[in-house]
Amino acid sequence: MAEVSRVERAPDDLFLRIVAGDVPATIVHSDDQVVAFEDIAPQAPTHVLVVPRERYENVAELAAKAPQVLARLVEVAQRIADERCGGEYRLVFNTGTAVGQSVFHVHGHVLGGRDFTWPPG
Ligand code: IMP
Repeated sequence: MAEVSRVERAPDDLFLRIVAGDVPATIVHSDDQVVAFEDIAPQAPTHVLVVPRERYENVAELAAKAPQVLARLVEVAQRIADERCGGEYRLVFNTGTAVGQSVFHVHGHVLGGRDFTWPPG
């Protein structure tokens, strides 16, 4: 069942199209493993998405199959937060529709620049 939904979702991978330059985005970082760009609907003064160049559905799959890419993603997230919000930030990986995942190409949300509440909604 999970495999079926993954195949259905793959052809419409928005973030692969952004990585390829086929969909416009404000790119803030690009290297051989990850790309970072501004979220189109920012939820905080800093709201950047960091994504692998290759498609993995969620952070667990990325950790299992390409841990070095996950490490790079976190390093880039930290660098962006250092530059923009004094290194204080929230790094969010939504996994599954119930918690809000809408794009099934793993992405870390780098959120900062304002006070946050806990628990998250
Ligand atoms: P998710 O809900 O955790 O999957 O996060 C998907 C994020 O992608 C949301 O925060 C959206 O605002 C963002 N998003 C959707 N389309 C675009 C786009 O074309 N460019 C940049 N961000 C986008």
